[in-house]
Amino acid sequence: MKNVKSPSPSRRSKAAPARRASTRQRSAYKVAEVEEIFRRFSVQRPEPKGELEHVNPFTLVVAVALSAQATDAGVNKATRPLFAVADTPEKMLALGEERLRDYIKTIGLYRNKAKNVIALSEKLIADFGGEVPRTREELITLPGVGRKTANVVLQMAFGQAAIAVDTHIFRIANRIRLAPGKTPDEVELHLLRVIPEKYLFHAHHWLILHGRYVCKARRPECERCVIADLCKSPEKTCDIPAPLVELPPQVIPVPG
Ligand code: SF4
Repeated sequence: MKNVKSPSPSRRSKAAPARRASTRQRSAYKVAEVEEIFRRFSVQRPEPKGELEHVNPFTLVVAVALSAQATDAGVNKATRPLFAVADTPEKMLALGEERLRDYIKTIGLYRNKAKNVIALSEKLIADFGGEVPRTREELITLPGVGRKTANVVLQMAFGQAAIAVDTHIFRIANRIRLAPGKTPDEVELHLLRVIPEKYLFHAHHWLILHGRYVCKARRPECERCVIADLCKSPEKTCDIPAPLVELPPQVIPVPG
C-alpha cells in the first residue's frame, strides 16, 4: 500500500490528527449523491477485500508495515515464503533480522523495515503477550506502525470501520472533491463525516480499488467508471456511467 507524503509528520502525534485538521473545503456532493456513489460501489463489489496477503493479525501488521512505498503485489511475493516460516512474533524473532532481510530484500527500504519488524515483534511479546492489540492507541506504539497502518489493521483484522488514507484514497478524495483535504489526516476525518455509516466499513477498500483500477493517477479511465455521471472532477472525460454490474472476484496480480 503506497503512502501519501504529508507535511512535517514528525511534528505531529501519531495518535490523533492535528487540530488544524478541521475541514476547510467542503465536499462537492450532496448527501444523496454520496449515498448513490457508495450504493453503486457496493453493487460492483459487495465484499471488497484488501489485497495484502496475511494469515493472522500479526502477519497483517507485518505486511502493512512492509507495504509503505511498495505495491501490494510486490509485498505478497516476498511475504508468501516468509509467513510460511514466521507467522508469529516468536517465530519472527527466531528467524532473526539478517534472515528476515533476505526474505524481503525485493521490497524498498527493506533494511529499515526488517529492523522495525523485529522491534515490533519484540514489543508485542514484551507488552502485549504476543498478541496484536485491538486499539489504535496501542497499535501506534509498535515500531513502524503509524495511524494509517493501525487503521488498516483495525479494519481488516478486527472488523472496525476505519479509513486508512493511502495514495489512492487521498487522490480520489481530492480529485473528485468528495472529501478534500491537504493531509491524509484531514481527508480521513472528512471522509468519516461524509460517508453514510452503513457504507463506512467497506468504504476504505471501495475507494482504494476504484483508485487502483479505474480512477488511476495518470489518467482516470472515466469511460469505465460507474459514477461518471455523478463525478464532479474537473479531470473527468466522460459523463456516461459504465454499466452497474457486480464485478468478477478480485484477482490479485502476482509480479513476475
Ligand atoms: S468519472 Fe473519471 S475522474 Fe470521476 S471518479 Fe470516475 S474515473 Fe475518476
